[in-house]
Amino acid sequence: MQNPQCAVAPLAGLSSLRHNACMSFVSTLSGTTSLVLDSPHSGTDYPEDFGFVCDLATLRRAEDTHVEKLYSFAPALGVAWIEAHFPRSYLDANRDTTEVDVGMLDGPWPGPVATDPVVLSKVRLGKGLIWRCTDDGVPLYDRAVTVAAVQARIARCWQPYHAAVGQAIAAAHARHGFSIHINCHSMPAVAASHATDFPGLVHADFVVGNRDASTSSEPVARLVCDHLRSLGYSVEYNHPYKGVELVRRYGRPAEHRHSIQLEINRKLYMDEATLEITAGFAPLQAHLRSLVERLLQTDPRTL
Ligand SMILES: [Zn+2]
Repeated sequence: MQNPQCAVAPLAGLSSLRHNACMSFVSTLSGTTSLVLDSPHSGTDYPEDFGFVCDLATLRRAEDTHVEKLYSFAPALGVAWIEAHFPRSYLDANRDTTEVDVGMLDGPWPGPVATDPVVLSKVRLGKGLIWRCTDDGVPLYDRAVTVAAVQARIARCWQPYHAAVGQAIAAAHARHGFSIHINCHSMPAVAASHATDFPGLVHADFVVGNRDASTSSEPVARLVCDHLRSLGYSVEYNHPYKGVELVRRYGRPAEHRHSIQLEINRKLYMDEATLEITAGFAPLQAHLRSLVERLLQTDPRTL
């Protein structure tokens, strides 16, 4: 049972309380605007029951390190914010709970399992709900993972994270009649061997994904692309990342619920070897702020 103080700590502010004595798996700050941001992969609190056997430095390259800091200005603008503190390699909140790699487990998985070959491509890469290997193909475990452990991770991490994102979008939509959800990520400058279906690909500065205009309208995505290009960045659209579960599950453009995945090239703000923030961080953050301010002035129903 969590200490009651821990349950309220994330609401008090993001900067000082989240990494303190008790484990908080998800932070939520409610908003007042139509905009919702979430960061599912920037968590750096490695739970004691993780039990990985690979090198931590290698594992940490899977994090979208510092993404939560890049957007730290947003809650003060009335933007709703959801942030995972658990690492992506422990449980990937950007997967469905059916994307279980059943070959990793100590027994039969009692729930439904995805059969769609496109969905299963992530599982084949070792990047299902529970990761089998790092982006470089190094195994995380030297044992079968118990079914009970996976169920516990879903209960502690996946369920509260998705409940928070779903509630924030519903609240924004109820207030304004529309919502814009940006699912915030970062990507390495060059795709690793087991990270994607495009190993070795040199990434653009940004990749905007809306699953081929199925999770946001074309004009909302175009506005994001054009704004970033106007700032001098290279931007790809739906390649090599189209967006995954967190936009698929919540984006319903016909109902004016727009969800976009935004990937930022890590070379713009950090040293990928040391994970240190670089001088590029501040100008990038200013540009992200200008994007958020632009979206706050946007009613997608009029685009
Ligand atoms: Zn990510």
